[in-house]
Amino acid sequence: MPESHPPSAWREQTVGRDRALVRRVGAVGMAFALGPATGAAKEPARLAAILDSRVRRLRFCEQVHGRTIHEITAGAEAVADVGPGDGLITAVPGLGLLVWTADCVPVLLAGDGVVGAIHAGWRGCAADVVGAAVKQMARLHDTPPGDLRAALGPSVCGACYEVGPEVPEALRRFDLDESRWRIGNRVDLRGFLSARLEALGVPTGHIDTVGGCTVESAGLASYRRDGAAAGRQWAMIVLNR
Ligand SMILES: [Zn+2]
Repeated sequence: MPESHPPSAWREQTVGRDRALVRRVGAVGMAFALGPATGAAKEPARLAAILDSRVRRLRFCEQVHGRTIHEITAGAEAVADVGPGDGLITAVPGLGLLVWTADCVPVLLAGDGVVGAIHAGWRGCAADVVGAAVKQMARLHDTPPGDLRAALGPSVCGACYEVGPEVPEALRRFDLDESRWRIGNRVDLRGFLSARLEALGVPTGHIDTVGGCTVESAGLASYRRDGAAAGRQWAMIVLNR
């Protein structure tokens, strides 16, 4: 499967030992780390430098492959784990939302004055974690899916992701075009998520797939390749005002 190349608006940024694919869209800063997390991954000032954005506080969750989305409204702590869940949404400027992945797909969502970050492996896809986030953004932030921009970061590709029959079986219930996400017993999670986002109403032209395959790229953390020893990549989104 060909490696995906970043659309031109994405640029590579290096700060110290940290390398990331970064994009600014209006007031929103988005980034996908291109390697396992270093100590900087939980330092607002370092992430602010990488994103060239205002990052004063950071929130992340204890990822459990489910569909719980945390609505982040405030909080005094600079850095905090908000508990079990697989997505975060906020309208608070300067509050960076982080997810961690090592083959699963990091999904960043940007609307007008609201942002979201989601962790989606096959279980999260089957639980429709992305649908839960898109619907929550519409319900609580009056942001219709047609106004959202989505970015899918580095993850295992379809060629490298051989799965048991339970995976396509769980994903088939969404009635998406199977040619977009499945070849036999191999599943392309980013292909699935793109098709799902479109079905939810996000325009095709608003969905970016950036970064390569975690298994095939030696610099990226991959659970499938390295097992329990694998680190985790961070992905982050922040509102600048
Ligand atoms: Zn691959």
